[in-house]
Amino acid sequence: RAKQDGKGGFRFFEAAMDAEAQKRRQMELDLHDAIANGELHLMFQPLFNLGEGRVSAFEALLRWNHPVRGLVSPVDFIPLAEDTGLILPIGEWVIREACRAAMRWPDHVRVAVNVSAVQFRNPGLNAVVLQALGESGLAPQRLELEITESLFIENVEGVLASLHSLRAMGVRVALDDFGTGYSSLSYLRAFPFDKIKIDRSFIIDLMSSKGATAIIKSITTLADALGMETTAEGVENEGQLDILREQGCSQIQGFYFSKPLVEADVAALFLPGGGEMPESAQAA
Ligand code: C2E
Ligand code: MG
Ligand code: MG
Ligand code: MG
Repeated sequence: RAKQDGKGGFRFFEAAMDAEAQKRRQMELDLHDAIANGELHLMFQPLFNLGEGRVSAFEALLRWNHPVRGLVSPVDFIPLAEDTGLILPIGEWVIREACRAAMRWPDHVRVAVNVSAVQFRNPGLNAVVLQALGESGLAPQRLELEITESLFIENVEGVLASLHSLRAMGVRVALDDFGTGYSSLSYLRAFPFDKIKIDRSFIIDLMSSKGATAIIKSITTLADALGMETTAEGVENEGQLDILREQGCSQIQGFYFSKPLVEADVAALFLPGGGEMPESAQAA
């Protein structure tokens, strides 16, 4: 009897797997047409510079508005895009759109773009960046590419060479989600990142754990010594902000300051007398 149940359970499991695989396959097909169908758009979340007391950049965050499923999170579709190679055209679209949008902002405001590992390893990335800068007219110093430590799992020499050639173009490079995954201080020694983005998981613990504060302090001290800026990701309240300020973090990003905004709202912020930062932002 137990055996029979087990078998039934297995068949059920198999059917569920089929459904999951089918859904995934359908999502891949849908994603294929997403650019052409105009289903992708960017949101922009401000990075507030504590020293300057103003917004110094916006991070471009990709959104997919699926015709049936509605808004799909990048956490769910970026992996699909990477597996299918669709990340290349999608990533190119993101870089071009981000540069175009940033041209409407003041000169001191940068745009940060996430570059996935597959996209970074593609030899065409340099040409894509050059073309996006050329056609938009954006100064290279205003474009910041965010990469993650996962890139350093293999072919470190090749990764460093690509980083240096992007840097030679004048583009800035940030290390995203720092402290998660394959953290190693040797990457910081190997390449002079412009910025370290401290992962949200460290910020979440700030109010409750002394250890978390000590970690932030050591990261900002290290970054300072290496001439790198620091951005704290996922800052959600004033208590966290106070600690980050005290520990010498250069920038904050998070819902406390502002959620990601649609492009029109960002542009409106910079019109004379048009638009204000959210109230929490002004308190910061
Ligand atoms: P990320 O680059 O670390 O981006 C930060 C994520 O944290 C964003 O999620 C943002 O909306 C969220 N966030 C910001 N402030 C807060 C906060 O105070 N609290 C909380 N709970 N979350 C906050 P999002 O937009 O869902 O993006 C998730 C990830 O998807 C990104 O993490 C990035 O790895 C990836 N991603 C987004 N856009 C792109 C893209 O254009 N290309 C690539 N390759 N990856 C992208
Ligand atoms: Mg990022
Ligand atoms: Mg991040
Ligand atoms: Mg993160």
